[in-house]
Amino acid sequence: MVDTVLHKSLHSTAVNEDKREILRQAIRTIADYPKPGIQFRDITTLLRDAAAFRITIESMSERWHDAAVDKVVGIEARGFILGGAVAHHLGAGFVPIRKRGKLPHETVRVAYSLEYGVDEMEMHKDAVKPGETVLLVDDLIATGGTATAATQLLRTAGANVLAACFVIDLPALGGAARLRAAGIEVDALLAF
Ligand code: AMP
Repeated sequence: MVDTVLHKSLHSTAVNEDKREILRQAIRTIADYPKPGIQFRDITTLLRDAAAFRITIESMSERWHDAAVDKVVGIEARGFILGGAVAHHLGAGFVPIRKRGKLPHETVRVAYSLEYGVDEMEMHKDAVKPGETVLLVDDLIATGGTATAATQLLRTAGANVLAACFVIDLPALGGAARLRAAGIEVDALLAF
């Protein structure tokens, strides 16, 4: 059944809604994780499903085939899984943005706020060259704090941030609007 939909999906845009439904059903929602009131959108169930994973990577990539993307930049940790596959699909390089202290060579660093307190993320100084076209990838955008900080790092390095791509947008939390206000195009496959 899923195979049929997947096969059709490669030949028709009319089944976009079918694809979206496959992805929506492949995502597991855990109530009150990691704390009361949060609906955690768990994509491990999507990643383990071959058809859903393939639809995800193809859908995240398809708009950018002709965009001459130099690097796909993934945010630790789920952005690595998705970003690596998108980079492969687009024939681009992959660059990780990591939590502070994890990268071995010289880094650029940015602090960003979380709900409680602040955190820092880093990228290797030589990971992108000035003028390169990059695509930012993560699994989900909520308040947009993480993606906005990643964009700052990339812009500091002189990259041209083409867009930020997510599987899931939580529009009520305003992150996509925040990124768009900073001049970044935002693409998400699903909204919850
Ligand atoms: P934010 O910086 O608020 O946009 O949060 C985005 C980051 O936090 C992403 O890396 C997500 O993986 C994670 N995140 C935030 N809210 C959720 C949620 N409800 N379910 C799963 N992951 C989340």
